[in-house]
Amino acid sequence: MGWTDERVELLKKLWQEGLSASQIAKQLGGVTRNAVIGKVHRLGLSGRAAPSKPARTVFKAPRPARPAVAPSAPRRISEQTALAVQPAPVRYIDETPGTATVLTLGAHMCKWPIGDPSLDSFTFCGRRVDAGPYCHEHAQVAYQPPQAKKKSSAAELARSLRRYL
Ligand SMILES: [Zn+2]
Repeated sequence: MGWTDERVELLKKLWQEGLSASQIAKQLGGVTRNAVIGKVHRLGLSGRAAPSKPARTVFKAPRPARPAVAPSAPRRISEQTALAVQPAPVRYIDETPGTATVLTLGAHMCKWPIGDPSLDSFTFCGRRVDAGPYCHEHAQVAYQPPQAKKKSSAAELARSLRRYL
């Protein structure tokens, strides 16, 4: 389809209205976006005031407010207090049944096995984790020195099972 005066006028109008070349091509029909761009160029219309590009919506995600003080232990501990503080005792977790099973365990769920893997009652902790395979509590247990770990056949079995998860 050629450029009739009518179509050129329409092109000019739409261009001035701020439509993009592809939008204009669609409105005119029978021309490609490139044809519109070429015509616009030849007509010397390219320098229009309002660019047709949809204003780029810059979405800035609000930054999570950083806590001024880390929620960890206070940095300054008086010497007396420091002496009184014993190394944190190993925390043994209540082995209450977890909320997940082999079938329901998801990517962001704690993969800490609870109970005897050979029994039907065996579960995984299933609490939400942000990083790593375990929730905060279980990570503390998982990464304690090996000699502190209780050795039992069930625990061993659970441990070997964890390697596959
Ligand atoms: Zn857990």
